[in-house]
Amino acid sequence: MSSSTLPLCRPLIHGLTRDQLTEICRELDQPVYRARQIWDWLYHRFAADWSEMKNIPLGLRQALAQRLSLASATVTRSQNEAGAGTTTKWLITLPDGDGVEEVLIPARGRTTICVSSQVGCRFNCAFCASGKAGFRRNLEAGEIVGQVIVAVRSLGATPSNLVFMGMGEPLDNYDAVLSAVRIINDPEGLSLGARRITISTCGIIPGIQRLAQEGLQVELSISLHAPDDALRSRLLPVNRKYPLGDLLEACRTYAEQTGRLITFEYTLIQGINDSPEQARELARILRPIHARVNLIPLSAVAEFEGHASPASVMGEFLNELKRARINATLRMSKGGSVDAACGQLRRRLLDQGAGWGAGCTVS
Ligand code: SAH
Repeated sequence: MSSSTLPLCRPLIHGLTRDQLTEICRELDQPVYRARQIWDWLYHRFAADWSEMKNIPLGLRQALAQRLSLASATVTRSQNEAGAGTTTKWLITLPDGDGVEEVLIPARGRTTICVSSQVGCRFNCAFCASGKAGFRRNLEAGEIVGQVIVAVRSLGATPSNLVFMGMGEPLDNYDAVLSAVRIINDPEGLSLGARRITISTCGIIPGIQRLAQEGLQVELSISLHAPDDALRSRLLPVNRKYPLGDLLEACRTYAEQTGRLITFEYTLIQGINDSPEQARELARILRPIHARVNLIPLSAVAEFEGHASPASVMGEFLNELKRARINATLRMSKGGSVDAACGQLRRRLLDQGAGWGAGCTVS
């Protein structure tokens, strides 16, 4: 089965749900147990090549290889922080040669992976490096699942948590992201619990509304970053399309419909969104919602002139929220200079409760 004889652009097998794979086996006149065997090769033995699937008849392997590709994502570069058990950042190469980032954070009994949903991003938030490079394309479900498999191969186990906080806007690639979530969540496969999967969005209201109807227990995180429309539109241009009042109303409805707590991400930028008045305003607008706030210091990016707020200002902002009885956390690093290249991913992971305490050095 030389790869030169296979058709190009075959769909990725890692993008199929178990039902879809079963259907393909049925079309190929195969008994149902074949789909189970193949699923086992994919998600328990992590086969990288059809030839590994020894208990699958050669003819079926050939027929599958004609229709489907196994090559979803490969690591082409790996960057580690110094020290054992620290963050790893991978450059992932996709089947067409495009690349995205993935970050793995091990932390006392937990391992969180941060995956990408798009190559680039359409939304151009003022301080986000991903948007600056422009939008190239959506990832397919199989390319998202492929990132999890990369992590499993490296760890020798399924990561305990997954966040969609890498490149891209997950709710702008809704169908692929939801298919990937269902595949990753499949109890007969990777079996990563929905409550351990976080979808983070800049505030795509129709996506939030759809997500509420899915009957999934995934965590929803909203990148808020400002307590009023004028500032939010400056920092996140998407706010002009989906303004704050409408977004918060969609969040309130989501929390009511799903019974889930929503996390609001708020990156603190010196002199821009970090005053006590803004903290009080944030508390006021979030009060009707079952919410928690994650405060994050800004990571430096070349294209944005702002700076992280001083520690005392961040502490005061946090205290204002707490005084207003808003559930809020702030995690700070003790490290020196921030590694701008991957800081945004890493910090976000830390604030997702990856388990690192305030004493950890993250830069
Ligand atoms: N598009 C999604 C997920 C990708 S970004 C979203 O907007 O939520 C993940 C998070 O990192 C977002 O909250 C984003 O606002 C934040 N972020 C981006 N650049 C950052 C930076 N330089 N410093 C701190 N947080 C940043």
